[in-house]
Amino acid sequence: MKKSASAFVVVLAATFWAAGDAGDDTETAAGTTATPGLTSTARWTTTLGAERKENDEKEKLALACPPLGLESLRVDDTQIQASSFQRFGLGPHRGRLNIQSGIEDGDLYDGAWCADYKDRHQWLEVDALHLTRFTGVILQGRNTIWRRDWVQSYKVQLSNDTISWKSSMNGTQEALFEGNGDGETPVLAVLPVPVVARYIRINPQSWYPDGDICLRAEILGCRLDEPEARPKDKLDFRHHNYQEMRKLMKSVAEECPDITHIYTIGKSHMGLKLYVMEISDNPGKHELGEPEFRYVANMHGNEVLGRELVLNLMQYLCHEYKRGNQRVVRLITETRIHLLPSMNPDGYEVAYSKGSELAGWGEGRYTFEGIDLNHNFPDLNTIMWDAQEVAEDPSKVPNHYIPIPEYYTKEDALVASETRAVISWMQDIPFVLGANLHGGELVVTYPFDGTEGWAPQAHTPTADNAFFRWLATVYASTNLAMANPERRPCHYEDFQVHNNIINGGAWHVVPGSMNDFSYLHTNCLEVTVELSCDKFPHATELPVEWENNKESLLLFMEQVHRGLKGVVRDKETKKGIQDAVIRVEDHEHDIRSAADGDYWRLLNPGDYKVAAWAEGYVPAVRHCRVGAEPRATVCDFTLTRTPAQRLKDIRAKGGKIPQDLQLRLRALRLRKLRASTKAINRRREGQRTQPRQNRKARSLPLAF
Ligand SMILES: [Zn+2]
Repeated sequence: MKKSASAFVVVLAATFWAAGDAGDDTETAAGTTATPGLTSTARWTTTLGAERKENDEKEKLALACPPLGLESLRVDDTQIQASSFQRFGLGPHRGRLNIQSGIEDGDLYDGAWCADYKDRHQWLEVDALHLTRFTGVILQGRNTIWRRDWVQSYKVQLSNDTISWKSSMNGTQEALFEGNGDGETPVLAVLPVPVVARYIRINPQSWYPDGDICLRAEILGCRLDEPEARPKDKLDFRHHNYQEMRKLMKSVAEECPDITHIYTIGKSHMGLKLYVMEISDNPGKHELGEPEFRYVANMHGNEVLGRELVLNLMQYLCHEYKRGNQRVVRLITETRIHLLPSMNPDGYEVAYSKGSELAGWGEGRYTFEGIDLNHNFPDLNTIMWDAQEVAEDPSKVPNHYIPIPEYYTKEDALVASETRAVISWMQDIPFVLGANLHGGELVVTYPFDGTEGWAPQAHTPTADNAFFRWLATVYASTNLAMANPERRPCHYEDFQVHNNIINGGAWHVVPGSMNDFSYLHTNCLEVTVELSCDKFPHATELPVEWENNKESLLLFMEQVHRGLKGVVRDKETKKGIQDAVIRVEDHEHDIRSAADGDYWRLLNPGDYKVAAWAEGYVPAVRHCRVGAEPRATVCDFTLTRTPAQRLKDIRAKGGKIPQDLQLRLRALRLRKLRASTKAINRRREGQRTQPRQNRKARSLPLAF
């Protein structure tokens, strides 16, 4: 999701870092008992001692009731009314915590509810639909970079019928609540006494002097007749901080030791380990022909749903494998699955310390050093496009395995340790497919994320556009939240008109994105999934979010078994050939074979002409058909050494050159001689008739 306008502020709970990763599995009491939200400090920093303690207690009680769901959209537009509003784009339906405005002010999607009048009779009203014990209100100003519109103080009224209203009281006086001091920081107000009612009104009393009465809100309350939620799958539905995440992964590994393997790919800036759970029937090793899959979550530390879904997924796969669920058994037997629940554990802890309701929109997004990890990968797109622009034949410019540029590998390059860890992980494992789980919108985006000249918005498809669109559709069409035709847009863009999928560049440019890097530097196709409007959903939403995403998560992994796969072997030795290039005709993106010679080429159904070659071998061509069923077609290749290579091999061993090879080499030499004579004659002819073309070749090495 896009960058917040608010600056990144590093807020760290000293106690947390002291508890840090000691490299063992000792869990600290603070680490295991903390629940999100409860550690938040809200705006009580100026109060001290006993008063502060009392306030903390009150806050705890207020946050014990979940949000009604203005942010998550559980509360729909018809449940929100207002005394007045300036225009549709600033209507009551925009008065939702963390809602983001469109790029142009004055459009249909503006950054708050704004009253049309500046007096103390304005209100925003929420119908909870059920009798609710209201405990608190969270207020935020208007999301805009142009104006200063926020409410400084307000009263709260409650009603059962919208006719008679009672104020929230502080003893014998009407309670006056402290509002905002800026447009972005969410501020919690605790009702002095919880009140049972169906309707609640926020009634501004003072506001930023030159600004308008504008606000975004969330309401905290416990529904009285809340039916007991019984999630279908028995999974650990809550937010897991670093210690808890580690504990959970360990427990899954203990429950399913035969199919799991935990490893780390590196550390965060603050030294937290980047843990990966591998799930496979033979964990710990690559099996010939078995494709490798990855989910990466929580790259933006405050986008936390992916982290929890990935933790849910490992538990689910373990349980269902043990239960003998045929679909899961098949998936685990035929695939090597890698799950990285948190790529940015430092950022996560910042957001987590604020809690699901008070983290705001930007806090915790970046790494400890302030780096946005999804802009931190080498921009190979620009290197490729620049080379294509000056190349005589752009189709000869390498479109895969583009090397990392030198500037990026320098010691002083601003590259996060998290990024470095993920890059070497991508280079070590022959991943075929993956998804990068984000939050703050409901849409699936596919590469390229980068645009030519870094244009802010430009449709920038890859050579695999059709298959990427298929992949995105697989996730988006089975995700219950995205596919719900009744849903309203999260913020300022209606992705439903695009069936909830979009080319990354067509949405907004992301230079140096992980997905683009993955596509241009490795074989792995990767999409980004924006999982929910709310970046940090309340823990009570997690069972529903699991149900929303369960089928999508499974079905997406199964797509790794589409297209072609096979092994490229040496004809004589029968050994697999590493780094053989596989080219599909009319697809300007090649892939390479892994260490054992096995390869996977994801493709939509169709008939393909496929070529394979490797250094020192004669290229081979085959026609292979991909069917509609989710099973890869086997398309193996056997390559023979080129005569020159055979000669080299024999000479190296000091062996005798067989007669067939001698004849072959002589024929080749003659053919070459004839061809070069012809070329010289042609060139002489050309020099006489037209001036020489003078195009400079670029430094980039040419592909085959
Ligand atoms: Zn994100």
